[in-house]
Formats: sequence, C-alpha cells, structure tokens
Amino acid sequence: MIDLKNVNKSYPGAVPLHVLKDVNLQIEKGELVSIMGASGSGKSTLLNILGILDNYDSGEYHLDGILIRNLTENKAADLRNYLIGFVFQSFNLINYKNALENVALPLFYRGISRKKRNALAMEQLERMGMSDRATHLPGELSGGQKQRVAIARALITNPSIILADEPTGALDSKTSKEVMEVFRNLNEEGRTIVIVTHDPGVGEQTNRVIRISDGRIALPDSTITAANQSDIITSAHP
Ligand code: ADP
Ligand code: MG
Repeated sequence: MIDLKNVNKSYPGAVPLHVLKDVNLQIEKGELVSIMGASGSGKSTLLNILGILDNYDSGEYHLDGILIRNLTENKAADLRNYLIGFVFQSFNLINYKNALENVALPLFYRGISRKKRNALAMEQLERMGMSDRATHLPGELSGGQKQRVAIARALITNPSIILADEPTGALDSKTSKEVMEVFRNLNEEGRTIVIVTHDPGVGEQTNRVIRISDGRIALPDSTITAANQSDIITSAHP
C-alpha cells in the first residue's frame, strides 16, 4: 500500500535541513502501525509525504502502486480525496461550523447535495457515538468528542488509509485509550492506519512500531545482526 525507497527530504534555507535520510518503509494494506520518535525526528514530515501534502527530494514513493512524484496539485488532491483520511492532534475543525457541518464538508467539495451530505455525515457521527452532538460547535465539545468528530470527517469519503499525526496528543490517557479503540475498530474493517505518536502507550496499541531517529528509520531489533551492527555504530559515530 505504502512503499518508500531511499526517500530524502530537506527543507531549504541558508543551511538546508536534511530531515529524512534514505527512508525505506513498506506498509501493507490493512496494517495498523505507529511511527514513533522524539520531537523533531521527522515524523510529521514523513506523514505529510505519505499523505501527498508535501514533496520529497529524491527516492521513490509508491502509494497503492502509483508513483507519487511531480504530481499536479489536481492529481494529488484526487488521490488524497479517494484514498486518504487525515486526523490531527489539534483536530482542525472549523470553529463556526457545527459537528454535522464539519463532518459533511469533504462532500461539499465533491459537489454532493446538502441533503445527501447531511444524511451521510449523520451516519458517521452515529458510528462515532456523537449523533446527539450534531448541532454543537467544536467549542462546546470535549477534546475526545472533537477528535471523534474529526475522525468522522476523515471517514466520510470512505478512505482506505487513515493517517493520524499525534491524534491523542491533546487528550488525557483515558480519552486517548478510547480514541485508540476507535482506530483499532477501523483497522478491523480493513483500513490501513498509520499513527504518528511519541506516546509509547499509543504505540503499544498498534500492531507494529516503526521507530524514527534523526530522520532515519531504525532497524527492527531482530534484524540487527553482528554484520550491520558495526555499520550502525560507525554511522552513529562518524
Ligand atoms: P516531528 O514531527 O518528529 O516533531 P517534524 O517532521 O515536524 O518532526 O520536523 C523535523 C525537523 O524539520 C525539525 O527540525 C523541524 O524544525 C523542521 N521542519 C519541519 N517543518 C519545516 C518547514 N516547513 N520548514 C523548515 N523546517 C521544518
Ligand atoms: Mg510532528
């Protein structure tokens, strides 16, 4: 589903910042994975590339078999629209629109009638246990409720992949567990889910933890052999 080969990304500047370094990463359809690493290690940059929100400089990224490189904004938006749902730490809800309108918004951009949009949005709110909050503004909802609305919005286009950047970062531990339960259920329906987090408790609730450190994907412990261990030590202490 997701296949990165030697992907590099720098942010330009007087001294360019090399953020992703030869990243190789495969995520199969239907996986529930977390990407963990310290603040500044490149997690959001990686997730933005996976979600075609940002470009990379070299290497190859195939998403669902499609080479993602030099796409026009139209083509990128199309792919995002039919494949990907995003969830963010800060929810990114529109404050002056109520829960139902927020969830329905992606369908507005698809030119679906208001009546149909609202009916579909209500279905998603029901799934998230939020139908009784449909007419509430985000400011009238708790953090966990806001995240449920944001997940309902991500689901309304029926994406096969959900990309979540620190989705529990603004939530207490009990609410965070409940939100993780939602992701686990969505995964059981067959959706591929990638969650960026720095919370080990969240990582534990996924089926595979990918570690990133200073822009490099760490090898899983089991693949560190005597042969490549010396490489790792050498590259860590050049
Ligand atoms: P994480 O999500 O793991 O905290 P990020 O991917 O956000 O890390 O950032 C990795 C590095 O890239 C950090 O040093 C950050 O300051 C820098 N960075 C992130 N976004 C930009 C940007 N748009 N322009 C320049 N530097 C950026
Ligand atoms: Mg981040």
